[in-house]
Amino acid sequence: MIEIDKQRTWAQIHYDRIAHNVKEVQKLIGNTKIMGIVKANAYGHGAVRCTQELKKAGVDYFAVACLSEAQQLRQAGIEDPILILGYTAPACFDELAQGHFVQSVVSYDYAKKLNAYGLAHNMKMSVHVKADTGMNRTGILYEDGQKDFEQICEVYWMKGLDVQGIFSHFPVSDDLGCDSKAFTENQIRLFNELVDRLKAQGIEPGLRHIQNSYGILNYKDLGMDYCRPGLLYMGVTSDDTIEIESNPDFIPILEWKTKVSLVKDVPDGATISYGRHYTCHGTRRIASLAIGYADGLSRMCSNQGLNVSIRGHLVPIVGNICMDQCMVDVTGFDDIVEGDVATLVGKDGDQICKVDEISRLAKTINNETLSAITSRVVRIDQNNELAK
Ligand SMILES: *Cc1c(COP(=O)(O)O)cnc(C)c1O
Repeated sequence: MIEIDKQRTWAQIHYDRIAHNVKEVQKLIGNTKIMGIVKANAYGHGAVRCTQELKKAGVDYFAVACLSEAQQLRQAGIEDPILILGYTAPACFDELAQGHFVQSVVSYDYAKKLNAYGLAHNMKMSVHVKADTGMNRTGILYEDGQKDFEQICEVYWMKGLDVQGIFSHFPVSDDLGCDSKAFTENQIRLFNELVDRLKAQGIEPGLRHIQNSYGILNYKDLGMDYCRPGLLYMGVTSDDTIEIESNPDFIPILEWKTKVSLVKDVPDGATISYGRHYTCHGTRRIASLAIGYADGLSRMCSNQGLNVSIRGHLVPIVGNICMDQCMVDVTGFDDIVEGDVATLVGKDGDQICKVDEISRLAKTINNETLSAITSRVVRIDQNNELAK
């Protein structure tokens, strides 16, 4: 048990809510299964613990960004298939094989290297082919104007590879504008066409997956084998002002809290924090909080009226956010004292502070805000136990 009294800044993650969020995803996608995206320490929520909770909710396939993240899951005893979405350097192919990881084929040349390794070691390396239908990040091109179909077929035929699936990725599935919808629908068409052409060549394409969180929310059941939600099982979207085509009932699993380190009355005309960007008009009651940008609270949120909740009162951050501290104006709330808990994200009495508010002021999306919460912030679970 973690003693809250002893903490400075912490994230409480309600892992017991993941199963509910998984059910909400499942309602949208029919018979498609879920591949749990747990990269970047599950966007700051704790990769191992999220994976364990996702498993309890029936998820049987996981994906991470890189080898070290995959190894962390294996070391924690996760035996399910793990897809590495990004690049793994050829110098690490031994480790890929040892962990029985499934590697993304990020390019045709990369497939040749992985194949050569498999042949040299008399084994088949497990892979999913990444087909690039319009993101133009990783993958073998299969888009209007350039369809490297022969290359994709060749990858399937490589004797040092065991191609277990094929996937693609959406750059604008979050946007319901006409152009973006047409673009995404064309990607779906290209992907299905590719799969059909492979089958016509006598190739078994394996597991097909294309939907990220917004692909699920806006395109629902596409008849794929898997979908790849990250954010959704964490109970949030990228930005709560973006319209979506469905009406799911997600419950955010993360709360982010800190402590009031002192409260003092500051005289008329005084300025707060670095740069002196906030001036007190009249005597103001100012509380210092034990959180700053080195905890992951973006400095972009300085002096923009970001509210935190203390004893159920919404109070704004004033002045520049410092590395380890920031200040809030608590004038009129005499019940606020040193040691009080301040909620940046989550529930405090009747108040609900959404991570979306931080992201909006930081001019980013929740994906970044959540994954930017630093390791100094203690992670605890719903029972106040230290979370891994
Ligand atoms: C990160 C990632 C996802 C998950 O994205 P969300 O928007 O969090 O659902 C899915 N697929 C790929 C290839 C990714 O890189």
